[in-house]
Amino acid sequence: MFIGSHLCDKLLDKGHEVICIDNLITGCVENIDHIRHERFKFYKHDVTEFIYVDGEIDFILHLASPASPIDYLQLPIQTLKVGALGTHKTLGLARVKKARYLLTSTSEVYGDPLINPQPEDYWGNVNPVGPRGVYDEAKRFAEAMVMAYHNYHKIDTRIVRLFNTFGERMRLNDGRVVPVFIPQALKGEPLTVFGDGSQTRSFCYISDTVEGIYRLMLADVHEPVNIGNPNEMTILEFAQRIIEITGSKSKIIFQPLPQDDPKQRRPDISKAKNLLDWQPKIGLEEGLKRTIEWFRERIKKENK
Ligand code: UDP
Repeated sequence: MFIGSHLCDKLLDKGHEVICIDNLITGCVENIDHIRHERFKFYKHDVTEFIYVDGEIDFILHLASPASPIDYLQLPIQTLKVGALGTHKTLGLARVKKARYLLTSTSEVYGDPLINPQPEDYWGNVNPVGPRGVYDEAKRFAEAMVMAYHNYHKIDTRIVRLFNTFGERMRLNDGRVVPVFIPQALKGEPLTVFGDGSQTRSFCYISDTVEGIYRLMLADVHEPVNIGNPNEMTILEFAQRIIEITGSKSKIIFQPLPQDDPKQRRPDISKAKNLLDWQPKIGLEEGLKRTIEWFRERIKKENK
């Protein structure tokens, strides 16, 4: 519910009526606690089960899924089910409501990519039976299902492939690198870099990601579109930046690299630039400063 909660804010801001559905297995309602709006409703429901919604719906955005490697290792069946059955159920709803449909897919469909940066026409290098297989293959299946509904049932669909996104409201210590490194730095604990830290990622600030999703929702593009920040760096550099910006005295320690951890990741965003006139606006430092402030407050609250 990290990206979803920011998307709810944006949609409400743009004047839409929003129904948010989540079974809360990895999400927390705190992320939408601040929304007191007559145009907003929340239902606790699992989208792998039949979804009933009263009235008309113009857009359906399917973001539901565990999204951190720790979560999908602990919830492998739910991860597969929400990518497969959840996509099927939400597409079914789009069909009866004659709604436009958007799937949030992931850079994980490229697996451990053999080319860098990754354009949308790269088919990927995925291990289906490795620890990440449950997420990667679920999202690959979801994309295939969306295209099938588009081609066969003529549903007006969109597929966005999101690269690493960070910002306020990430779940503390959810296993992803940002909510692990920032609290470590703020508490003066060592930052746990996996492997030798030479693997790369490209981090996009949440407001840019949400703007990209919103633009795609309004555009007429059915093929997948990458949304992410092409500013690539090694995880070791990333750890050093966080130590610098927080002013922490934390050291860096090295721990074993998880199996199938992608060695490089960077989006080719030419398509988003050309078709959506979109590119990230918030630099890493600015995004990190905002996120660090949020985590500082969050940790203070926890310690009260
Ligand atoms: N990582 C790390 N230390 C941690 C958590 C993650 O070095 O405590 C690394 C991880 O091995 C990966 C990168 O940071 O190379 C990004 O990990 P994350 O789980 O955020 O997302 P991924 O991009 O791998 O899906």
